[in-house]
Amino acid sequence: MTYPDLAPESQALFARGRAVTPGGVNSPVRAFKAVGGTPRFMASGHGPYLVDVDGREYLDLVCSWGPMVLGHAHPTVVDAIQRAATHGFSFGTPTAGEVLLAEEIVSRVDAVDQVRLVSSGTEATMSAIRLARGFTGRSKVVKFAGCYHGHVDSLLAAAGSGLATFALPDTPGVTGAQAHETIVLAYNDVAAVEAAFAEHGSDIAAVITEAAAANMGVVAPRDGFNGELARIAHEYGALLVIDEVMTGFRVARGGWLELENRAGADWSPDLVTFGKVMGGGLPAAAFGGRAEIMSHLAPAGPVYQAGTLAGNPVAAACGLATLMQCSPEMYEALDRTADRVGRLVSDALGDEGVVHTLATAGNLFSIFFSEQAPDNYDQAREQEAWRYTAFFHSLLDNGVYLPPSAYEAWFVSAAHDDNALDRLVSALPAAAKAAAAAHPDIAKEFV
Ligand SMILES: *Cc1c(COP(=O)(O)O)cnc(C)c1O
Repeated sequence: MTYPDLAPESQALFARGRAVTPGGVNSPVRAFKAVGGTPRFMASGHGPYLVDVDGREYLDLVCSWGPMVLGHAHPTVVDAIQRAATHGFSFGTPTAGEVLLAEEIVSRVDAVDQVRLVSSGTEATMSAIRLARGFTGRSKVVKFAGCYHGHVDSLLAAAGSGLATFALPDTPGVTGAQAHETIVLAYNDVAAVEAAFAEHGSDIAAVITEAAAANMGVVAPRDGFNGELARIAHEYGALLVIDEVMTGFRVARGGWLELENRAGADWSPDLVTFGKVMGGGLPAAAFGGRAEIMSHLAPAGPVYQAGTLAGNPVAAACGLATLMQCSPEMYEALDRTADRVGRLVSDALGDEGVVHTLATAGNLFSIFFSEQAPDNYDQAREQEAWRYTAFFHSLLDNGVYLPPSAYEAWFVSAAHDDNALDRLVSALPAAAKAAAAAHPDIAKEFV
């Protein structure tokens, strides 16, 4: 069976886009390579819905990969953006909005005394690593396989095995020297971290980890894992960088760190990175930490870091307006919605006898087509990802937009109400049947 062309306008734009942009997209996952078929070019979004250029409406379970925590075009946020824009878009000077946004972040996250605003999560992790190296005077960085920290050269290294090993670059263009400064370990493996520090401890500037891993599908840290990272890093005089770009201001008011604190954590990271939700859909991100460390950043200290558009007034207004709507009640509703969507999907797959696991970390979730929730990247890749392809396309045809890859988290928003979820409920049985009937070559059937 081959599937009909349901998206003529998207196909036409994709062809034109490919002529002037590598692969037709400005971020690789958007090209649908993992699932086959034509990426949908979106024309608008409202609440929990997206509308493509062919006029088809979708329930959005990607939410721009996290930022749209209130849904699309939330009226209060639109108003804040419009008001800010009326006063001018960029001055190259400090503005009040940056102070307000920084104060809001600092008030939400105990571990953060000061933040520096940047324009993307990649910049946040890149700058945090530079600061950690500048602060400690050391060069090596420990990261975990399957954790994504943006496209920072030295962090694009992921080892092929769970052994403590110096990484090879994951991509052409990253030099061996850059990758050589990165030690890649298996996620959730405390013994591997101990061993790496025993061997290289005096050269390690920092350990960087996602607060909860959600870029290999959702893989929660084992109880105590992040705390052990803090303990080991600090024992050797290294810093712990917790990457909350995805989890920050989404899984709780104070991000993943708040969830750990509620569960009794008695450790603290040295640096924290933010992005996604804090920009509300415009380019704004940040890194922050203890004043003692942040004061090493220029112009207060010697570690250089800068940005023409950093703290942009329109982006700051959008981020602040978004965070102001993110109340404790909003997070309770978000948790309930995420839980309900996860259970609906899992029940539908169960009804068709499809082997799968619903993996969660706070209100982040994803489905693995495998018997057990994975603990690390090697296990995550053992799933029957081709079932996801069939599942994805069936839902797409029936007006539900999932991440176009089996290795991404799913996202809901405060706008995902009962009406919105009804669309998912009616689309799920066919999608579960498609997943049950799928075969490993299925992606080739989509044009
Ligand atoms: C998305 C993401 C990044 C990169 O952010 P960009 O804004 O895409 O550069 C970094 N870390 C994590 C955990 C992310 O999920």
